Amino acid sequence: MNPKLYLVTYGCQMNEYDSTKMADVLAKSHGYERTSVPEEADVLLLNTCSVREKAQEKVFSELGRWREWKQARPGRVIGVGGCVASQEGEQIASRAPHVDLVFGPQTLHRLPELLEQNKRTARPAVDISFPEIEKFDRLPEPRAEGPTAFVSIMEGCSKYCTFCIVPYTRGAEVSRPLDDVLVEIAQLAEQGVREITLLGQNVNAYRGRMGDTADICDLALLISYVARIPGIERIRFTTSHPAEFTDALIDAFAEEPKLASYLHLPVQSGSNRILAMMKRGYTREQFLAKIDRVKRARPGLSLSTDFIVGFPSESEEDFAQTMDLIDRCEFDAAFSFVYSPRPGTPAANLRDTVGAQVKSDRLQLLQARIREFDDAYKQSLVGTVQTVLVERPSRRGGGQMTGKTSSNRSVNFDAPLSAVGQFVEVLVTEMTTNSLRGRVISGDGVFVSGGVPSPGADAPPSPARGRGDASGLSSSIVGVGVGVGGGGRGRGGQPGADGVRLYSPLPLAGEGAPQGRVREPGQQNEPQGEAH
Ligand code: SF4
Repeated sequence: MNPKLYLVTYGCQMNEYDSTKMADVLAKSHGYERTSVPEEADVLLLNTCSVREKAQEKVFSELGRWREWKQARPGRVIGVGGCVASQEGEQIASRAPHVDLVFGPQTLHRLPELLEQNKRTARPAVDISFPEIEKFDRLPEPRAEGPTAFVSIMEGCSKYCTFCIVPYTRGAEVSRPLDDVLVEIAQLAEQGVREITLLGQNVNAYRGRMGDTADICDLALLISYVARIPGIERIRFTTSHPAEFTDALIDAFAEEPKLASYLHLPVQSGSNRILAMMKRGYTREQFLAKIDRVKRARPGLSLSTDFIVGFPSESEEDFAQTMDLIDRCEFDAAFSFVYSPRPGTPAANLRDTVGAQVKSDRLQLLQARIREFDDAYKQSLVGTVQTVLVERPSRRGGGQMTGKTSSNRSVNFDAPLSAVGQFVEVLVTEMTTNSLRGRVISGDGVFVSGGVPSPGADAPPSPARGRGDASGLSSSIVGVGVGVGGGGRGRGGQPGADGVRLYSPLPLAGEGAPQGRVREPGQQNEPQGEAH
């Protein structure tokens, strides 16, 4: 019987992604299978997050519960990964001596070695170093778990917002080479993935090396490459930083139909004074100008953001500026929190002057306003036909399926299980508090009238289709070879304002020769990190 792994994840999508990679690594090295029953686990891992309040306390209280499981079977291994591990390091094992492994977001690929080291020495194995991009080269091939997948394209953050711990726990921004990202996505597409979310702490700070050249690929260009991978019909990205939200990215919303009509762009505050104290690197005027441009580029765009309410010294006027910004941008979704200091950050040295009740009142006002825009947005979809990727059976049961619109709204509708992974056209008939209901009127397949097309059968094109299919590219992995020859046919051929050369999409396989950096399936390179 294979050994069992129990994994608990706190925090953001980056952590969710990292957790799947931890499971993949241990499955490959030691045959570990995931279990949802901690009592039967041989290894228990806690993937931690230090962004929210009392993160350390939460971790140690969970570890306290795990101590009993360890006492029940002393051979069990307990590991702590993620940002709290990165921040606390050896301290974790000192405070919780039953912990055997401590590793950071950038060293999760070394879990097999850490396990062996712990077994050999009978002492806690700790590795919280930042070995840059090595992690990605050491991970097993991705495994699809449904029609949607995350692909991490960069790690870390170099922005150092005064309230945030991430740059200290995940390290500086590091981008994966373009070829590696494309190969991973093509491998997922081969396994049936149709929607990709490009992931990064500051995803639009992506600057991927192009082959063996000195050329650099930005996020806008990466999106145009991903759109040409056969099978990939929808592309999302998260999380963006407003200061890196370039004109090229705004153009992508106008030009690339596979780019979803959804943008999460964390603003944090509408007050220039507070933005400066947070060291966010933009003003409300600059933010508003970008929102105006992107909304013109993609009418109907769903716009989401993050807010921190009650930052030290936030006045009524500052908060009024935030509310005004909400009205101007019409955010239809937001993650919003009251400010609380994070130990180790510059803002933790500021006097937390805003009272708890004031923070709470402001948060409620803000959230109520966002709910109004959310309801208005959902209502605007009622009566329209939306292209929906069928993801899974609805949790409501009753034979219903659930999927997402391009604008990231969940829709429930009647459809057979075999529809999972298909794009269908859904007439939205009703909005509920958190989602939409609808009726399938046509789809990739003919399941509406019974049956699903066999793979390769002709299916009516959905609006999201087009460029990838039209390119005539092979669907094989090598079909995403990247021509990176010089001659950057740039958007105007000029370097971008940030010094990065901006290209038009370059020829893919069949149109231009790959430059030898694309890995064949199965080939691994030699060995060589939420807030916003
Ligand atoms: S809030 Fe976002 S951009 Fe700012 S330091 Fe944290 S991760 Fe970086």
